[in-house]
Amino acid sequence: MLHMRPIERLMKSLPAGADAALVISGHNRRYLTGFPSSAGLVLATRETALFLTDFRYIEAARRTVRGMECVEYASLRETLSSLAERLCLRCVLTEDEGMTVAEYRRFSEMLPGVELRGGVLDGLLGGLRLIKSPEELANIKQAQALTEYGFDHILPYIRPGRTEREIALELEFLIRKQGAEGVAFDFIVVSGANSSLPHGVPGDKAVEKGDFVTMDFGARVDGWHSDMTRTVAVGSCSPEQRWVYDTVLEAQRAALSVLRAGLRCVDGDAAARSVIEAAGYGGCFGHATGHGVGVEIHEEPRLSPRSGEEVLQAGSVVTVEPGIYLPGRFGVRIEDMASITEDGCENLTKSPKELLIL
Ligand code: ZN
Ligand code: ZN
Repeated sequence: MLHMRPIERLMKSLPAGADAALVISGHNRRYLTGFPSSAGLVLATRETALFLTDFRYIEAARRTVRGMECVEYASLRETLSSLAERLCLRCVLTEDEGMTVAEYRRFSEMLPGVELRGGVLDGLLGGLRLIKSPEELANIKQAQALTEYGFDHILPYIRPGRTEREIALELEFLIRKQGAEGVAFDFIVVSGANSSLPHGVPGDKAVEKGDFVTMDFGARVDGWHSDMTRTVAVGSCSPEQRWVYDTVLEAQRAALSVLRAGLRCVDGDAAARSVIEAAGYGGCFGHATGHGVGVEIHEEPRLSPRSGEEVLQAGSVVTVEPGIYLPGRFGVRIEDMASITEDGCENLTKSPKELLIL
């Protein structure tokens, strides 16, 4: 099915009993249309795919969106209800995760007599998004290339006296100036004792000699994300810091070495976790080993102890990001992105990960 556009795959996947899918969340809309907008919706039956949007977007949408008819609305209520009549809609699938209660009420009022059915569409779209087409993978690789450009160029900037906030801003500037549509998420730049905070927010703390600096960052290209983390040392590194760093690196390589289609996600997680536990840091790695990346920065599949019987599929893109966090002291995380293949994985992250002492 990968030779088909996402919208065509969705139309072919509509389950019996459902007449159409109504997609309103920003990331799923963008996935289906390839078009960024703050307003609009996708309505897809088995035969017809429509992108409804307003005056602000319609000209650009008609130029960009392929495989769908673009419809301009002045009154969404009038446009939708006449479409529902023309397309004989009785049961329409809606997103649970991408639709607020207020939006659900609004659409219910706009479509009297139509059953809006949740519970199916999120899984359907998630299943399509799980496997990246060659074009989608190319966008993710491009986002990762910009991210690595940022990493290469931020290293000379990091020195005692620079604050976490300055480093985060400079990194963002480098990546956006190089051509990213935007950043993938608010960057994490944490130093010294703050580096034990897995999702710490960059602040006014200045980098000091002997600090670890952990940077978690990424770019967005055509709606597709990249995600990478590196921890570097500034000026010097204690034997304990090096031991922890090397343990995380060994755990990260262990997980990368087992990834392949058919592997249970829990086993991908365990490959990294067992190295960290064996080194005596079992209680210091409190998050999952990895997550899928695509039109959302965190999506399926998850390399987690809680992933049940789920197995990896060829074409998925996952991060591998074990860490060790010693509260009040320091932390280390190393994160690459890998594309799953039938017999292994392709590591999409080319930046070095041996410990750098700046
Ligand atoms: Zn990350
Ligand atoms: Zn991540």
